[in-house]
Amino acid sequence: MSKQKKMKPKLLKVLKKNQNPNQVEMENQEPQVLKLNCDNCEHKFELEAGAIQTEFLGGDVEWRFFSCPNCRIRFTTYVGDKRVEKGIARRNLYRKAIQGELAKGEDLSQKIYWENQQADSEEAKKIDRRTRRLKKEWKIDEREKEFVL
Ligand SMILES: [Zn+2]
Repeated sequence: MSKQKKMKPKLLKVLKKNQNPNQVEMENQEPQVLKLNCDNCEHKFELEAGAIQTEFLGGDVEWRFFSCPNCRIRFTTYVGDKRVEKGIARRNLYRKAIQGELAKGEDLSQKIYWENQQADSEEAKKIDRRTRRLKKEWKIDEREKEFVL
């Protein structure tokens, strides 16, 4: 019986951890004006909806970024390919299942909940690895500085 009592704080901890914005949630966000401070030149500017550009780098690799209007450095918001896209779609399904369980309140199935949590975090790691690899392969660091004044 004491085992069940211990489950609860653990559950809360995980939920808190997942409240941080991540790639999946950002993908679903409504476009809005963001106030930004350029890391490179400290210029303050507003990022409006539609200011994010997309470039196809070859194959199915997509790079999304915006530029500082002052120094022209580019900020990457997304690098991915079909594999990453599929991973994001899978994460959305896991998250839907998690939300569905949470909506059940006391009838929540720990098994379904944890299986989806685990699948989601595994998928997040895979996406992260793939993204890092693509960034390296396509020299995103260099592209970001390509037009810096
Ligand atoms: Zn700048």
